[in-house]
Amino acid sequence: MARGEAIGAISMTEPAAGSDLQGIKTRAIADGNHYVINGQKVFITNGQLADIVIVVTKTDPDENAKGMSLVLVEGDREGFARGRNLEKIGLKAQDTSELFFNDVRVPMTNLLGGEEGQGFVQLMQQLPQE
Ligand SMILES: Cc1cc2nc3c(=O)[nH]c(=O)nc-3n(C[C@H](O)[C@H](O)[C@H](O)COP(=O)(O)OP(=O)(O)OC[C@H]3O[C@@H](n4cnc5c(N)ncnc54)[C@H](O)[C@@H]3O)c2cc1C
Repeated sequence: MARGEAIGAISMTEPAAGSDLQGIKTRAIADGNHYVINGQKVFITNGQLADIVIVVTKTDPDENAKGMSLVLVEGDREGFARGRNLEKIGLKAQDTSELFFNDVRVPMTNLLGGEEGQGFVQLMQQLPQE
């Protein structure tokens, strides 16, 4: 990404979770040395173009902020699908998209930062700069 060879996206927002991000439903459930990701995102900048998507997930669905983790999903993973590029009144050069995750398997090494439950903290540290 730093070399300009891959486009990234940050997928947080869901149809039923925007400002109140702790309410996300997307899950990354451990299965051996993989995560299986299921869920849906909306309003994702670069959704159509992204080579790598940072997915805000719940690795512990029983927890709120403490159960959130950031997991990388490469754009060619099986089960990952891009939905509509949503109509907007402005910012036409930037796509704003739906994303779908249907039993997407990624290795556990795709966990950003290497520690489960740190997703909310990571977002709070990095989003102000973004
Ligand atoms: C152009 C564009 C690009 C975007 N890109 C991305 C992206 O790349 N990745 C991503 O994850 N998301 C992205 N988003 C989504 C954006 O982060 C959400 O729209 C935002 O978090 C608000 O969520 P919501 O739309 O569900 O609104 P809601 O959370 O439903 O809020 C609706 C209204 O209610 C108000 N409100 C909400 N809660 C409260 C409260 N407790 N007290 C008082 N008022 C409240 C809000 O201020 C707002 O006016 C993008 C959105 C747009 C428009």
